[in-house]
Amino acid sequence: MIKYRKYGILIILTSFSGFVQAQTDVDLTKQTVDTNESASHIWFLASDELKGRDTGSPEIDIAASYIAAQFRKYGVLPVTGDSGYYQAVPLEATKPPSQGTLHAGDFSFTIGENLVALQATNITAEHPVLFLEFAMPEELTRENVKGKIIIAKAGKSGERNPRSFFSLSRDKRKAAKENGAVALVELYNSTAFPWSMLLNFLNREQLRLAGNDNETDQDNFGHLWVYDPGNAFYAYLSDNKKIAARIGLTSKERTAVKATNVIGMVEGTDPELKNEYILLSAHYDHIGYKTGTHGEDSIYNGARDNAIGVAAILSAAQGFGKYPPKRSVIFLACTGEEKGLLGSKWFAENPPVALHKIVYNLNIDGGGYNDVTKVSIVGLHRTTAEKHLISAVHDFGLEPIADPAPEQNLFDRSDNVSFAAKGIPAPTFSTGFTSFDEEIMKYYHQVTDEAESLDYDYLAKYFLSYVLAARRIANMEETPFWTKGDKYEEAGRKLYELNK
Ligand SMILES: [Zn+2]
Repeated sequence: MIKYRKYGILIILTSFSGFVQAQTDVDLTKQTVDTNESASHIWFLASDELKGRDTGSPEIDIAASYIAAQFRKYGVLPVTGDSGYYQAVPLEATKPPSQGTLHAGDFSFTIGENLVALQATNITAEHPVLFLEFAMPEELTRENVKGKIIIAKAGKSGERNPRSFFSLSRDKRKAAKENGAVALVELYNSTAFPWSMLLNFLNREQLRLAGNDNETDQDNFGHLWVYDPGNAFYAYLSDNKKIAARIGLTSKERTAVKATNVIGMVEGTDPELKNEYILLSAHYDHIGYKTGTHGEDSIYNGARDNAIGVAAILSAAQGFGKYPPKRSVIFLACTGEEKGLLGSKWFAENPPVALHKIVYNLNIDGGGYNDVTKVSIVGLHRTTAEKHLISAVHDFGLEPIADPAPEQNLFDRSDNVSFAAKGIPAPTFSTGFTSFDEEIMKYYHQVTDEAESLDYDYLAKYFLSYVLAARRIANMEETPFWTKGDKYEEAGRKLYELNK
C-alpha cells in the first residue's frame, strides 16, 4: 500500500514535471516573440520602396540595414568583427560577349540567336575543325587538338538529361583547353530543356562569387553551345570532316558587385553546449523589379519568398535575445540566393566560427503556401532532430509534412544545401504547400507576392513553430546529426571527425 502510494506520487510528479516542461517551452516562445512585430518585418521588407531586394541593388542594402537594426534591438551580438553585423560577399557580374559568331561550311551561328558563350575571349580567326561525336575528356587527351576548333555533341552517349550536360561540359572544356584547343563548340538540341529557355538562362547578365573559379578570359579559350535542330550541322560535319571554321568572339564584360550577408549571434547558456552553434538562416534577397513597364505593378515584392523567412529568424532573434537556449545560435540573413545560393556558399567557405562547431542549420525559405493547416519541412525525416520539428509544429496546432514534391529536389535548391554539402544537418522550414498548384504559381516569383496577400493568423503560428523548433534543437541533449544512410551523412562524419 505504502509502496503503491509512493509510486503514485512518483508517477504524478514525473508526469507533472513533464507537463510543466512542455508548457514552459511553448509559453516561453509565446511570451518572448511578438508576432505582430514579426508581421511588421514582412510589411517593411516586402514594401514597394525596397523594389524587390535584388542582389547588388541599393534597396537590398536598406533591407540589410533594417535586419542589422533588429538584431541590435533584440540583443543579438555581431560575430563578424570590425564590420559589425555585415559580412561582405564579393560578387562579379558578367555580361554576355557583345559579339559572337561561328561560320563553318554553309552553317552560321550568332550569339543570342542560335549561339551562347559559356566562356569567351577575343578571337577572330579561322582554324581547322576536329569533329568528334561527343568529345569526351579522354578523347581530347588522346587526339591531336592543338590549334583546332573542337566540334561535338553536348552530353554523352545515352545521356538525355540536359542538367548533366553542364558538368560534362566543364570536364570537356578543361581537357580541350589543357591540350591546346582554340575553342570547344557543342551542339545542342535537347527538347527536355528547350533552346529558347537555355538562351534566356545563359545569355544574360549573371552574378557569381568573385574569384571562385580558376577559369578566366585570360585562358584565351572559347566555349560555345550552338543550336542544331534535327542534327543538320552534325550530319554536315559527319560528311565534311576536313573543314575549317571561323570564330568571331569578344570576351565577357565583368564588373564587381557588392553584396552582404547579415549575421548575428546569441551565446548559449550551457558552459559546454555553448561551444556548439545552431545556424538559423533565411535569404533576404529577391528578384527585383521589371523595367520598361508603364503604370502596372512591376515590383517583385517577395513577401513569401522570403520576407516571411527573414521575419521568422528575426522572431527567433527576439525570443533568444531575451532567453537564450543552451547552445549558441547564429542568425544568418543571406544575400544572392536567387542568383545561385551565393551568400550561403560564401558563408560556408568563410564562416565566422569554425564550420565544425556549427552542428545544425534550420533554414527557412518558401515559394508560397496552399494549405494553412500545415508546415512543409523539406528534409523533415533526414536528421535526428525530426521529433523536435514535429512536436514544435504540433504544439501550435499545425501539421508537419515532409517534402511534397520530391521530384523537384527542393532540398538541394535552397541555402540549406550550401551547409548540407559540407556535412551540416540542414532541413528547410517552409510554409504549408502540398503541391505546385495554381495557388502557388499565382504568387511564386510574381509581382502579386505582396504583404497584403498573406494570412497573418497562420503566419503567427508558423513563426512560433519555427522558433520553438529552433529552441528545442538548440537545447537537445545529444548533438543532432543526419539519419543513417543519408546522402550527406558521410560529409557530416568527415566534418565532425566522427570516423576517428
Ligand atoms: Zn526563396
